[in-house]
Amino acid sequence: ADPYGLDRWADGLLEVLDNGDLGIRDPEHPERPAVSLPSIVRDLDQRGVSAPVLIRVGALLRSRIAAINEAFAAAIDETEYEGAYRSVFPIKVNQQADVVDRIVEHGAPWNLGLEVGSKPELLIALSRELSDGALIICNGVKDEEYVRLAIATQRIGVSCVIVLESVGELDVVLRVAERLGERPLLGVRIKLTERSSGPWASSSGDRSAFGVGASDLMTIVERLREVDMLDCLQLQHSHIGSQIPNVNEIRAAASEASRFFVALRRLGAPLSYLDLGGGLGVDYTGEHRSVDHSTNYTLSEYCVNVLETVKYVLDDGDEAHPTLITESGRAIVASSSILVFDVLEATYYDRAEWIEHQPGDHELLANLIHIHDYIDVDRLQECVSDAEYYRSELRANFRRGLLSLDQLARAEEGFLTVIRRLKKLARQADAVDEGVEELLGQHVDIYHGNLSVFQSLPDSWAIDQIHPIVPIQRLDEMPTRHAIVSDTTCDSDGRIDRFVTKDGVSDWLPVHDLVPGERYHLGVFLVGAYQETLGDLHNLFGDTNVVTVELLDNGEFELLAETEGDTNAQVLSYVEYDPKACLDAFKKRVDAAVASGRVSAAQRRELISTYRYSMSSYTYFEH
Ligand code: PLP
Repeated sequence: ADPYGLDRWADGLLEVLDNGDLGIRDPEHPERPAVSLPSIVRDLDQRGVSAPVLIRVGALLRSRIAAINEAFAAAIDETEYEGAYRSVFPIKVNQQADVVDRIVEHGAPWNLGLEVGSKPELLIALSRELSDGALIICNGVKDEEYVRLAIATQRIGVSCVIVLESVGELDVVLRVAERLGERPLLGVRIKLTERSSGPWASSSGDRSAFGVGASDLMTIVERLREVDMLDCLQLQHSHIGSQIPNVNEIRAAASEASRFFVALRRLGAPLSYLDLGGGLGVDYTGEHRSVDHSTNYTLSEYCVNVLETVKYVLDDGDEAHPTLITESGRAIVASSSILVFDVLEATYYDRAEWIEHQPGDHELLANLIHIHDYIDVDRLQECVSDAEYYRSELRANFRRGLLSLDQLARAEEGFLTVIRRLKKLARQADAVDEGVEELLGQHVDIYHGNLSVFQSLPDSWAIDQIHPIVPIQRLDEMPTRHAIVSDTTCDSDGRIDRFVTKDGVSDWLPVHDLVPGERYHLGVFLVGAYQETLGDLHNLFGDTNVVTVELLDNGEFELLAETEGDTNAQVLSYVEYDPKACLDAFKKRVDAAVASGRVSAAQRRELISTYRYSMSSYTYFEH
């Protein structure tokens, strides 16, 4: 039994240990025992780093960088591609210093470069010690200052390629280059006509805001020729969109980009780099299909398909194979971060105790209770419909003033007991009608998680991104409940209601009964891409604690880095409050109460120290 479909999406990196803990395997050392995730969480808790906590795992990041570069190397051999491959990490996918530093360090053997889309991202890239052959690809809207920085740093041996996004940008570049007396390294971003599918389809096609079409491309080439700088045009860029589910869309985009490439070479541009941008997807659901959140290809199929396509078009045009660049971000970082949060309490959508009929019960309530007498595995549909009907009629009676609150409460209890029995029977049935399953599926428990979806999983709120969620303990017990997860914000959108389970995607998560006094942690996986930076301060829940860990050979782990989550004072300052001024204002209010005799001196002291302590504490629920 694999209720969470680990076999499909976890890529062998997660394993259920004998004691029911979820273990993390080190892909670089398959011979080592898996490290228990609950033991990491317990250890962190003892050190004062409590959940919710984002755990970055060093080996998971390193192994992805290696996997992508090695897969391209193997595909180059297989396809007899004559150019090289260069990986470039787009900083926007995870800008956190610890992550970028590790990517730069681990990517050095492959000359991994960085892609930037803004001035701050360029400032990051320029401050990192990249290997000699690494490129900095400068995308995004560029003002003079951006361009000056990119061109001037050529003098210290940094290879910044300014990717022209428009004809207007060329004017800026020419002006700055002339002033600095430098010949810039240039690229041009092509607007592909081929449209992709998936949530980021608008990065390509006519409506894409980025890149130039054929006519502007001709203008750029002519202008560069006029000023005798066509030889500066070294790179052609395109980006089909992120998380492309279908390999044929990747092939089509690579083919179109390659045709542009051949055409530009024919016009005299000595292009040596073909940059195909990002798009390599992550199979979040493990369905291995061309649908949102999944992919119908493996990493090695991606590499072979891209290289084969480029090679075919370049050979057809009789042009030498360029160095191929991809800007995979998601595929590098997604799997390296795990968010762990605890469940604070549960709202169960069923009741164990049966309700007995009492004299004076409303007739509809008596009917609801009577379902108990004919409930049976062969009459599931009938029983679900009856229960729904009687409850809805009873609620309508209450609204009209025809039913007491006490009777309504008994009706709700009675309904929940029927649902519990129906769910139990449905689990025993060989096959359950889809309609029944859907109806029962609506009556799921709510597990209240100590997290903010808006802060830690913003894509799950904004674009219904699915991240696999798994309890990290008790996996040797079959989960008996179906739940959705709500967060600690006071927002009805602050919930997660789509999950990866053994059957694919479900609108409930299999979970265990909570045991009083025992912590129950859920892990959210594949959250390393985009989530940290896109997160926001809804309800003023701040950044969570973040740690970087290294897996050791004896099933233990080492804590490499820790960043404390935001305190209440920090989040207040983000929204323009001065925490010290808040404390002073609070003191004044307390002093007024002391003056009027409502509060004693000792109570004043306690009130102020409580307020002061709260300023310095974590924004999330603390045990
Ligand atoms: N390159 C560019 C220009 C992008 O806009 C993006 C993101 O959409 C990426 C690379 C990263 O894409 P992905 O995370 O799908 O690899």
